[in-house]
Amino acid sequence: MMQDFTFDAPGALKIEWDGARRLGGLLAARFSARRALLVTDAPLVRLGVIAPALATLEEAGFRVSVFDGTVADPPESAALDCVALGRTAGADLVIGFGGGSSLDIAKLAAVLLHSDQPLAGLYGIDKVQGGRLPLVQVPTTAGTGSEVTNITILTTGETTKMGVVAPQLYADLVLLDAALTLGLPPGQTAATGIDAMVHAIEAYTSRHKKNPLSDLYAREALRLLAANLVTACTDGQNRPAREAMLYGACLAGKAFANSPVGAVHALAYPLGGRYHLPHGLTNALMLGPVLRHNLPAAAPLYAELGALLGFGAAATDFIAGMEALMDRSGAPRRLRDVGVSAESLPVLAADAMLQTRLLGNNPVPVTESDALALYRAAF
Ligand SMILES: [Zn+2]
Repeated sequence: MMQDFTFDAPGALKIEWDGARRLGGLLAARFSARRALLVTDAPLVRLGVIAPALATLEEAGFRVSVFDGTVADPPESAALDCVALGRTAGADLVIGFGGGSSLDIAKLAAVLLHSDQPLAGLYGIDKVQGGRLPLVQVPTTAGTGSEVTNITILTTGETTKMGVVAPQLYADLVLLDAALTLGLPPGQTAATGIDAMVHAIEAYTSRHKKNPLSDLYAREALRLLAANLVTACTDGQNRPAREAMLYGACLAGKAFANSPVGAVHALAYPLGGRYHLPHGLTNALMLGPVLRHNLPAAAPLYAELGALLGFGAAATDFIAGMEALMDRSGAPRRLRDVGVSAESLPVLAADAMLQTRLLGNNPVPVTESDALALYRAAF
């Protein structure tokens, strides 16, 4: 007998090397809208990554407004500024083009440009009313999976984050153009790639919503990511490795959009909040200790993943294999190596307890003293 389950996903997924250079034709054929708001960040504009996409859009008859004010851990003001620009320009189509933060802001802009709902009223689950503008997502990193999820996270205070979760945040079209990821430096490739692996692992062991389809996506994601992470880090121009990482990260995103992540992310968020460390890096730092903490409940699932990846048949083989892979990727492995102080660990543990939504998905409960022990293990 099959357990009931729901699996949500965005509209079309297009895989095309150099597809961003042909974005105009692709969008003109699919949408009647012609006033595009492109959401990105200033470094991508400066590096020349956006220019070819702009050229093809304009050639295809689009008038494009570029919002380049996205920053890591975006504050509410970034979303509001983006919406203001879109409103002035009369935007009727939103294109997220960049890392996870740009894609997240694009989701909110598509909603807010279509309604009078204030941003403050959107936080929580299913608070978005009505529809949104057409939404296209083009990721330039292989990690967050944000292009295929229905979540936007904003920083609302000093270190507090709030999420908008609603089906309207799923895009109409996702373009995976791995040529855009060729220029990512090794450190960022490692951290974002490990983050994607964490998405797949946590989806596979999630306590409540794990289902046969999320398992399928998680397993295929892990297979691709494990086989290509080190090559993508050490040989960044390697096209097959870059393609596999971007596709794998996308599949992991589909898995955790339906079977949500747990304690690795719950413990990673306070590190991002207090120390402004990149999301992928914080997950890489916490993965090993949390895998060991979860062994009592997750051992059979870890054993399945270890066998899948060729690490060995025991659950502990999976953990050892993941740690060896992270070592080979070159990612920092200890909290002390990235500037975290030992004195701050109790505050981080207290912060982590606020992530109740995520902790509830973890296969083994995490108390505040557990959290402190996990930070100490990662230190
Ligand atoms: Zn993540």
